[in-house]
Amino acid sequence: MRQQGGGNNLAVKTGIFRFDHDTARLTDACDRARLACESIPRTDVSAYAWFDSRIQEDTAIKFHILRNFEKALENGWIQVYYQPVIRAMTGSVCNCEALVRWMDPEVGMISPGRFIPILEETGQIYQLDLYMFEQVCRDYSRMKKAGKRLIPVSVNLSRKDFLHDDLPDAIDGISRKYSVPREFTNLEITESAYAENPGQIISTVEELRRLGFAVEMDDFGSGYSSLNMLSQMKLDILKLDMKFVQSEMVKSADQSVLNDIIIMAHRMNLSVVAEGVETREQVNRLRALGCDYVQGYFFAKPMPIAEFEKLLNAQSGRTQAPLLRNPQNETGMRRVLVVDDDAGYRESVRQAFEGQYQVLETSDADSALACLRSYGHAGVSAVI
Ligand code: C2E
Ligand code: CA
Ligand code: CA
Repeated sequence: MRQQGGGNNLAVKTGIFRFDHDTARLTDACDRARLACESIPRTDVSAYAWFDSRIQEDTAIKFHILRNFEKALENGWIQVYYQPVIRAMTGSVCNCEALVRWMDPEVGMISPGRFIPILEETGQIYQLDLYMFEQVCRDYSRMKKAGKRLIPVSVNLSRKDFLHDDLPDAIDGISRKYSVPREFTNLEITESAYAENPGQIISTVEELRRLGFAVEMDDFGSGYSSLNMLSQMKLDILKLDMKFVQSEMVKSADQSVLNDIIIMAHRMNLSVVAEGVETREQVNRLRALGCDYVQGYFFAKPMPIAEFEKLLNAQSGRTQAPLLRNPQNETGMRRVLVVDDDAGYRESVRQAFEGQYQVLETSDADSALACLRSYGHAGVSAVI
């Protein structure tokens, strides 16, 4: 039993285990009742929970994770999967995200949703995130040496990583070791990191950007969103949270705030990525709203490096501009917008102008207007 609060606001949480003298010892029974109690969500004020098979399974997997994390790293059970990020206007793969996978020989695939919170609790997440960054650099260094086309990859950082003062140095050191150009390794941080420790995050993000890494704000709109945060901290890319995107998509245009957020992000020189895009309708709508990039199962699920390389090779040989750090692109290139329903024509215009201009494409007038709105009047130099 645990108590919360004080005075008149006493909350009681109770865990219950049905005790059977033949199969359990008294101490085990108490442990199980405690586990049942701990399974009650923090948000519940007063509640009780029975110990059941789900709690038993969760506890078993938790101990498995705690016991085997080091071994999983050493034996290569922890792997990097890559999920493509697509340029909304053209449908081409221009970036990707590195996502961790634990392929356990005993219990099968363990999802990050299960082991990341546990590693965050123990502090081992820092080791995992540096390991992931190093694996990505290793893959990229090999691809670079083989003369393969590289596209920027975004690597996730946990909010707990920011408790380590040496984070920028550690990232910098790994990057140097593999000589991967920094413009190919972006770093993703979450809103919750900022909410917990704004001062620390602002200075670390500044340092990472000074070292040459683009920084992306992940899960924007997932609940902690603070517009104040965006004005306090210089970032490169805003990633809209999957659930937020999906819930906004079912609203009518005048009730959804997506367009407002995209316009605001562009004003702040941030590119926008929408996550969790699962249907063609969502792609079309996001494109019409001026969203720059989309990521989701509609295009591809996260995949092992070999498969990802095949996908990149299979892309037509045309040059693909990488994910821009921000719409007011840093090379100072002006933008031209090509509006035509003929993809071949758009492609030929792209080839003619790319390098001197940032070429935007839309296939119809509505999307063109949304695009112009999102970049602002001065943001596009010419429309073809
Ligand atoms: P995230 O950073 O928001 O990553 C996106 C998650 O959405 C990934 O789940 C991805 O597989 C999933 N996803 C992508 N497109 C779709 C879609 O269209 N529909 C649906 N339903 N899901 C989609 P995943 O790989 O299970 O990762 C879950 C979370 O675990 C990540 O969320 C991230 O917060 C964390 N994570 C993953 N890898 C790492 C890592 O290396 N380090 C840290 N610190 N966290 C990581
Ligand atoms: Ca992410
Ligand atoms: Ca996300």
